Amino acid sequence: MKRILVTGGAGFVGSHLCERLLNEGNEVVCMDNYFTGKKQKIVHLLDNPYFELIRHDVTMPYFIEVDQIYNLACPASPVHYQYNPIKTIKTSVMGAVNMLGLAKRIRAKILQASTSEVYGDPVIHPQTEDYWGHVNPIGIRSCYDEGKRCAESLFVNYHAQNNVRIKIIRIFNTYGPKMEPDDGRVVSNFIVQALQNQDITIFGDGNQTRSFQYVSDLVEGMIRMMSTGDDFTGPVNIGNPGEFTMLELAQNIIELTGSKSKLVFLPLPSDDPTQRQPDISLAREKLDGWEPKVSLREGLTKTIEYFDQLLSE
Ligand code: NAD
Ligand code: UDP
Repeated sequence: MKRILVTGGAGFVGSHLCERLLNEGNEVVCMDNYFTGKKQKIVHLLDNPYFELIRHDVTMPYFIEVDQIYNLACPASPVHYQYNPIKTIKTSVMGAVNMLGLAKRIRAKILQASTSEVYGDPVIHPQTEDYWGHVNPIGIRSCYDEGKRCAESLFVNYHAQNNVRIKIIRIFNTYGPKMEPDDGRVVSNFIVQALQNQDITIFGDGNQTRSFQYVSDLVEGMIRMMSTGDDFTGPVNIGNPGEFTMLELAQNIIELTGSKSKLVFLPLPSDDPTQRQPDISLAREKLDGWEPKVSLREGLTKTIEYFDQLLSE
């Protein structure tokens, strides 16, 4: 049994990760400041004697004895990370400093939830880990992109300078049950709109692409990454290479929900990446043949069931 700290554990991905780690017989400490996370997502775990919940902001230092740290604390939806951009940068940068400092003191292994956003609006397609990216350092997405890029730099330097055992994963667009209806990201927006027969809000012409990964595939990849040998630090892409336009995504969701919703076209926010698709060769090689198992249709069906239930409560 390992004792594992999950920062951002009351968020969408973190809540799935906490549950999976507990099910595998670990002791889990979930840390969150409830900015975008909610206690409701982990309330069912509170009866488990091996689960602990801490309200704490990662921009402040914390001391605890654990074997592993998964550092997920950071708003991930553009609406939320742009709400208070300075705080977003502090969360990524000071959060990384504090958690790396902790990992160094207690000799814990630490995994950083980085992002495909480090590639910005990529000109290399699909994206491989050796691509340095194409990020606007002063644009509206930079608080997130540059914060996450700085965190990666902190991770590799704590590893080089202090021998901290680090793991960096670059997560591509992930969706699934336990997203908030007002999360603001595209999959939850479209599903909530479709279920309520409201207009589906396509930003731009809808020809921009994303590659959507179901959350259980991500969690499997995270756990496999954490258990790789100390010589493999990443970064490694974790995503589903199935690439879709936003128009195709909307069409799939309309079909699966039988919705009467119409499409409306709204302005494209600035710096919105035009294409995104992970090259997952490295993950396949290093993570014991890991690859996504859940197709978009299958994952959307499960996510639609979740929101249908939630909205009818
Ligand atoms: P989320 O917004 O649901 O979860 C983030 C969690 O972090 C929330 O519970 C929030 O309250 C918490 N948090 C935010 N600031 C904090 C702070 N200062 N101190 C403590 N807790 C704080 O988003 P998610 O989709 O679950 O993303 C989890 C992580 O994975 C994030 O780091 C995100 O950048 C990364 N990621 C996610 C995706 C994706 O598609 N879901 C893609 C790339 C990277
Ligand atoms: N998007 C959209 N309608 C929405 C929300 C998002 O068309 O209601 C688009 C957005 O402009 C982007 C894509 O969907 O091109 C993915 O957006 P999301 O916020 O989910 O993630 P990210 O842009 O960070 O990949």
